[in-house]
Amino acid sequence: MSERLIIIGSGPAGWAASIYAARANLEPLCIEGAQTQENYVQGTLPLGQLALTTEVENYPGFPAGDLKGFLKTALDENDLAMIPSVEGMHTVTGPQLMHLMRRQATNFGTRVITDDVVSIDLSQRPFKMKTLGGTSHEAECVIVATGARANYLGIDSEHAYKNKGVSACAVCDGALPRFRNKPVVVIGGGDSAMEESLYLTKFASKVYIIHRRDAFRASKIMAERALANSKIEVKWNTTIDEVLGADDEGVKGVRLRSTVDHDKTEELEASGYFAAIGHTPNTDFLNGQVELTDKHYIRWVKPFRTNTSVEGVFAAGDVADDYYRQAITAAGSGCMAALDAERWLGMQGVH
Ligand code: NAP
Repeated sequence: MSERLIIIGSGPAGWAASIYAARANLEPLCIEGAQTQENYVQGTLPLGQLALTTEVENYPGFPAGDLKGFLKTALDENDLAMIPSVEGMHTVTGPQLMHLMRRQATNFGTRVITDDVVSIDLSQRPFKMKTLGGTSHEAECVIVATGARANYLGIDSEHAYKNKGVSACAVCDGALPRFRNKPVVVIGGGDSAMEESLYLTKFASKVYIIHRRDAFRASKIMAERALANSKIEVKWNTTIDEVLGADDEGVKGVRLRSTVDHDKTEELEASGYFAAIGHTPNTDFLNGQVELTDKHYIRWVKPFRTNTSVEGVFAAGDVADDYYRQAITAAGSGCMAALDAERWLGMQGVH
């Protein structure tokens, strides 16, 4: 049986689209992603990138405050058990916010499958897709809300120590015992690098920011905060030559190479290596069937609409947005995509 609407992805865009579509009686099916080791390593687990963060201070409607009572009334025990304990937090956390959104979507009848879409055929309607778990699904209309994932430099030694000290998410991994009271390095010069470095100062003895230029790309306020922190030292004009380590112990250090004098190298002791060098949209599974931008994000083909180049396929959130990349903008575009999908289905006589 063909679904009317399948929503692929489960960040703020996916759940906002699900909430609006469910309340429009479209009985949406949300394919939220799979809980696989590969998704853990890539940072593409269900509930999106917000599931990998701590406090969310800028999502409207969640001012600082203790949400414990509200969470207990809004979520069931299973949901609560899934949310990592974050003692000392004074506002909503990313995982809490995402579980609240998911619950809001299921409260209105969204059905959820915990699996990855690995292939899709958009050549004719109903669209057909297959999941990692081996199930097949068909839909008259699709909203792609698969978000984006963190980038790595791509050097062999970096790959070799993933989950053994190499990470792209300080907030997910920073509190691990291996990083406590030891030096760590953060690669990048944008806001993410500043944010991750500041976060890591809570645990590490020292945080080196490794940046390839002599000036940060980060916003002034974030850069100033990082530079003012006595635990942070910046290694300007350097890049990572190799991550040093051992199979059993993981990361033990890095060898830096100057980007100015290419013969100049330096070794630093470090128990952790955190990549903070931007993101890549999760569009591979579309296999070229939807028009992308030069940075591989989905292109919205109509101004102020979420239409893609394929009739009946809409896109929402970071998978189509390399500019704003905020939870609130992702949720806003998820709402837009559901309204666009509902109107489009109506025009096809399906809804
Ligand atoms: P970004 O702004 O694109 O910065 C990426 C950084 O990584 C740049 O400094 C870049 O160096 C460096 N880089 C990229 N590829 C590299 C490579 N191959 N080798 C070495 N260095 C490399 O990405 P972002 O920091 O993730 O931020 C993305 C967006 O999210 C921005 O708009 C940012 O403002 C926003 N954001 C906001 C907050 C906040 O407000 N709290 C927090 C995080 C992110 P170059 O500078 O030399 O290009």
